[in-house]
Amino acid sequence: MSRRPPRRILGLHPETWAGLSPNGIGQQKPHHLREMLDVARINRKRLPYAWRVLNEGVCDGCALGVAGLHDWTLDGIHLCTTRLRMLEFNTADVMDPAVAADPSLGDRSLAELRSLGRLGHPLRRLRGEPGFRRISWSEALQAVGAAHRSADPDRIAWYLTSRGLTNETYYTAGKAARALGIANIDSAARVCHSPSSVGLKATTGVAAATCSMRDVLETDLVVLWGTNPANNQPVFMKYLDQAIKAGTRVVVVNPLLEAGLDRYWVPSAVESYIFGTKIAHLHVPVRPGGDIAFAHAVVKALIERGLVDDDFVAEHTDGWDDLAEWLSTQSTDGLLAAAGIDRSCLDAFVELYGESDGAIHVWSMGITQHPHGADGVRAIVNVGLARGNVGRNGAGLMPIRGHSGVQGGAEMGAYATAFPGQLPVNGETAAGLAERWGFPVPGHPGLTAPEMIDAAIAGRIDVLVSSGGNFLDVMPEPSRVRAALASVGTRVHLDIVATPQMFVDGNDVIVLPVRTRYEQEGGGTSTTTERRVAFSPEIPRDVAEARSEWRLYGDIVAATRPELRAAFDWADNASLRAEIARIVPVYAGIEHLCATGDAIQWGGRHLCSGGRFATPNGRGQFSVIDVPAPRDVPEGSFVVSTRRGKQFNSIIWAEIDPLTGAGRDGIYIGRRDAVRLGLDHGAAVRLRSADGHLDGHLVVVDLPDGTLQVHWPEGNALIGDRPADREPGSLMPDYNAVVTVERRRAGSPARADGP
Ligand code: SF4
Repeated sequence: MSRRPPRRILGLHPETWAGLSPNGIGQQKPHHLREMLDVARINRKRLPYAWRVLNEGVCDGCALGVAGLHDWTLDGIHLCTTRLRMLEFNTADVMDPAVAADPSLGDRSLAELRSLGRLGHPLRRLRGEPGFRRISWSEALQAVGAAHRSADPDRIAWYLTSRGLTNETYYTAGKAARALGIANIDSAARVCHSPSSVGLKATTGVAAATCSMRDVLETDLVVLWGTNPANNQPVFMKYLDQAIKAGTRVVVVNPLLEAGLDRYWVPSAVESYIFGTKIAHLHVPVRPGGDIAFAHAVVKALIERGLVDDDFVAEHTDGWDDLAEWLSTQSTDGLLAAAGIDRSCLDAFVELYGESDGAIHVWSMGITQHPHGADGVRAIVNVGLARGNVGRNGAGLMPIRGHSGVQGGAEMGAYATAFPGQLPVNGETAAGLAERWGFPVPGHPGLTAPEMIDAAIAGRIDVLVSSGGNFLDVMPEPSRVRAALASVGTRVHLDIVATPQMFVDGNDVIVLPVRTRYEQEGGGTSTTTERRVAFSPEIPRDVAEARSEWRLYGDIVAATRPELRAAFDWADNASLRAEIARIVPVYAGIEHLCATGDAIQWGGRHLCSGGRFATPNGRGQFSVIDVPAPRDVPEGSFVVSTRRGKQFNSIIWAEIDPLTGAGRDGIYIGRRDAVRLGLDHGAAVRLRSADGHLDGHLVVVDLPDGTLQVHWPEGNALIGDRPADREPGSLMPDYNAVVTVERRRAGSPARADGP
């Protein structure tokens, strides 16, 4: 039975306050009002349009889910500064195409290129030409079609980012690629949650959150594993604030207790806005990669203390006896040593977990961007299943998504290892799709995003089509990525603004300007973390010659193989949604969505409801997982992981993270390590790995000994992307590295570069 404090909705909750200083005056924290004024200034030329985007559109930021200014979880306004910051993409002027002729653009940063405005005209640059020149759509499509016709489909790769792309765009791209015989299509889901898909599919049969955001409000306990919603899904903090005030407890399992998970000021909740909210009731400071060992220690302790939900385990799961037997051979001390946790912390966690009727396990890239990411997910599932925390109110497993497109991208089949509906890619499923689509479909999995880089380096890619997806920032080892891009014969970049990767040399580089999700003809849908397919209407704005992306993939097919045009000739995108409903049965109902607020939630509030799992035998699967061997870290070296600041994906909004006060070149180090090295907060240092180096300034915090954190994507300079180091099931790169720390002369210029 739950022993948490009774829920109290009304009145004040001083026990939850972060302090008495009004709105945290004097503390390091975001200044939302100041930022909103800044946003108004940036968007001042088109404020009425910006208002329509906010009031009518589905947010193109993270995947928490909101239509207009309201969500499906809480009454009141749902808005955050991430969304406000994204507005500038919708209100920017059109870039003068003549500017693209400037050969120095290749030296500019993403932010500098963004400030040039929206791409409005097709551009082309042939090898030897100093810069881009404006071309007609006719020339552009002829060139793209000719490149596709002349290349073996296995030497063509398509990649789609999550830049606010809609399900309609992902679906059309996946269908278009396969129409042209191209299996190599992948999307941004690969480098954020592909290990979640692998781990969840194997254990629960579904590759999505099993619960809804409403459950966060009703649960006894939220466990945040390797995730920082204060940065990445800010309105989740509003849910947590309300839940905490009603008695929910929060545990943070992460090397660092992030400042925003220690305490937070929710701007749209009066009590929290004034007094702040203490978020974490317990911090479990696992070392990087120590989550699996910690999860094992938890399950072992649950067994020893008689806290396992025996009925659920017996009625709804398989593999428990094997896991319990294996855990009996493991010592708690050994597991805790591998996790970097002391016994009192384990005891505190197990006490909280054991007395909670329901718990929700939330995780993101702190779990997935590791060589054992899928095992980390399986280990979390073990913890969840042991207490029956699946398929009921106030309980669940939630891989929280940072981008509005990634859930739908994979579900729509813009994925190397899945067809629409997340069907596996094989001869049988390909034949079924071919029958319904009316053309042959390749039945072998394609290259994943990291494999596309490998293939390009090896000279095995002739054409790369990239919708957004600035590989130079997103993938590790930028010098290798640059070489890969340069070795592709024809690159086609579909985007709304210029990005650095467009300026990498190539035989033929074509830039196609596209519309945002709001501008695109007929609007579109995207799928939230809680599996809600939400409709965002068209909010008309012409940006010179930019085209709707869902139309454009059909144009590329027609330019390559005109005889296939009819398969992409939807009268409007309502017709396209009707086709999606036929091809992806769980999306049934999408064909009726047509106005702001319209949504369907596939699978309903809970997946695996009542303990009925989507696995072949209908039972949840426990996993026996070896504790990963520790990294080989020479004496005096450190393991560095990446972290996020004030940014969205690789788009940096601020040089200083308002939650921590650290600059982008901040190198987070533990207090004991800083003392041991004789270095103070702010000291100028250089990190050096086998693959590169990064200069920065120390930020002294409470981190486990021997570990560091640096901002991403800057930290990519330190990270090598060796195929052998990737997570085996999903091929997620290992976004961690072993580095040394060198003192740098204060004031010497900061750089990120090769070794
Ligand atoms: S929390 Fe996410 S979905 Fe909500 S407004 Fe912010 S970016 Fe958009």
